This record gives sequence, C-alpha cells and structure tokens, in this order.
Amino acid sequence: MMPDYHVHTVLCKHAEGNAKEYLNEAEKRGIREICFTDHAPNPHGYDPVHRMEMMQFGSYKEMITGLQGTRTARVLFGVEADFYQGCESFLATWLPEQDFDLVLGSVHYIDGWGFDNPVHCHVWESVDVGYSWRRYFELVQKLAESGLYDAAAHLDLPKKFGYRPSERDLREMIGPVLDCIAEAGMGIELNTAGLGAPAREIYPSPLILSMAKNREIPICFGSDAHKPNQVGAGFESALEMALEAGYTHYFTIRRREKTLHPLPRHL
Ligand code: ZN
Ligand code: FE
Ligand code: FE
Ligand code: ZN
Repeated sequence: MMPDYHVHTVLCKHAEGNAKEYLNEAEKRGIREICFTDHAPNPHGYDPVHRMEMMQFGSYKEMITGLQGTRTARVLFGVEADFYQGCESFLATWLPEQDFDLVLGSVHYIDGWGFDNPVHCHVWESVDVGYSWRRYFELVQKLAESGLYDAAAHLDLPKKFGYRPSERDLREMIGPVLDCIAEAGMGIELNTAGLGAPAREIYPSPLILSMAKNREIPICFGSDAHKPNQVGAGFESALEMALEAGYTHYFTIRRREKTLHPLPRHL
C-alpha cells in the first residue's frame, strides 16, 4: 500500500478527528506511512475560517511529532500551504523553520472566490469557465515558480463541481504549468478526494497525469481525508490510473527530500 500524503485534522475547523484517529484508520487499512498536511496558518488573515491559528501551530506540531516512533506506521509531519498574493515572504522564512517532511502547495481561491467551496459553487454558473481555469492555472504556475513547495495538491481542483474547459483549452493551459512544476523539481499528488466530488474523478485527470509523466514529474498519493475513515480511500483507483499513465515509481519524502520507489502492480 502506498503512503497517504494528504491528511487533515480537527485543527483546520472543517475536519473531524485528531491525528491519532487518522493514524488508527491508516494502520487498519495497511497503510505503512501517513503524512499529516493540515492547512497552514498565516499571519495575514488569509482565509482564517479554514485553518488553525498561528498560535495553534505548536500544538499541531506536538500532536503529530508526539506520534512519531510510537506505532507500526510511520508518521510524517507536513502542511498544505495555500499560494496567494503576498504569501511568499512569510512562507520563505516560516516553512524552513518548521522541519517539515512535506509541503503541499494549493490554490483554493480565484480572485477572492473560494471556487471549490460548496457554499460558493453557484458562482460557477455566472463566470466564464475557461477564463476561471486560466486564472487558476496562472496562480498554480506562480506557486511552482516560487520554489517554496514539494508537490502540487489537487492540480485540477476547479473541476470539482463539474465545470470544465474543453480538452483542447486544458492541454494548452496546463502545458506551461507542468513545465514549471518539472523545472521546480516538484511532484504532484494523485488526490482521491475528487472521486467523492461531483467531478467523480481523481485530481488530476488522466490527460494531465499522462502529460506529467511525459515530463517525468514524480507522483505521490493523497486522500485529502477530512474524516478518519477517508484515509487511503480510492487508492486502488489511483494506483490503476498511475499505471495506466505509464508511471512505474512514486516518491516518498523525508525532510523535503524525495526518494523514488517502484509502484506495486496491484493492491
Ligand atoms: Zn480542508
Ligand atoms: Fe486543498
Ligand atoms: Fe487538503
Ligand atoms: Zn486539500
């Protein structure tokens, strides 16, 4: 079983369960390695309702590192850090100070619109879908160019509610973004949360994954669990998709250094 590298905790205010409950679930499912990547706090007042406070970061770190070495499954300490206008100088000093194993990079807002939030889903009806995707990928490209992250999370998140650009437009938009991701030495995750969304598809799509493979961008697997019973969900499908895209390896990471391992043929 591949490691689960995208797991939240109750600290982000929209997930259930503490780290131990997620770890119990991982062990039950034969997952040997789990990386907690809760939403990073920030001092800018950016999206405070979906993340821990700066003050809570110490207890997050203690909750995770306190589990290390106590169990069969290996526990890694990570974070999901949003890329937004003005985040770089903070992240450039703060991230290296925390001894993270993994820093996932995400974009959850297009020009102030929380496009993946069910509460703001109706906005998709009144925007130019192609333009919104383009704006999104501009931000992801900046995320990659910042050099601050180890892997891009849910790379085609705007498909969540089923609003997609044409395949031709998508190819044209994603190419330069993947070039930047490869250039930055970043990986991407196969994020299985998309299977439970209206999109009914892992992030990213098979098309994007095959384009990533052409650039030898390394992959990892993440459930984006916001409830303990979601740990490792959909990993059979994710493995199948990786193999179909031509991938032979996935990466593990320690202190932000990646190592490649052969993919299992089946789970
Ligand atoms: Zn979340
Ligand atoms: Fe996310
Ligand atoms: Fe997440
Ligand atoms: Zn996420």
